[in-house]
Amino acid sequence: MNTININLDACDGCMTCVKACFANVLRWEKPAMSPVVAYAEDCVHCNVCELSCPRGCIEVIPDFAYMRWSAL
Ligand code: SF4
Ligand code: SF4
Repeated sequence: MNTININLDACDGCMTCVKACFANVLRWEKPAMSPVVAYAEDCVHCNVCELSCPRGCIEVIPDFAYMRWSAL
């Protein structure tokens, strides 16, 4: 499955990525007040989270083999 890396050291907690992910892969973790990758298996590699993060904290690494077979 795709890998979503979030650099929490650079994250300022704006929640943009959580709001941007239409697949609800990213969720907001209240105790830590930071985004968390909750359902990586649902990620479709649209890259909206990566592109929308104003601090460049997110990197999505696609797994094309997984996406191909999970779509069948
Ligand atoms: S790449 Fe798209 S589907 Fe995957 S976590 Fe980011 S916004 Fe969500
Ligand atoms: S968009 Fe970037 S800075 Fe904002 S909460 Fe998400 S990872 Fe953090």
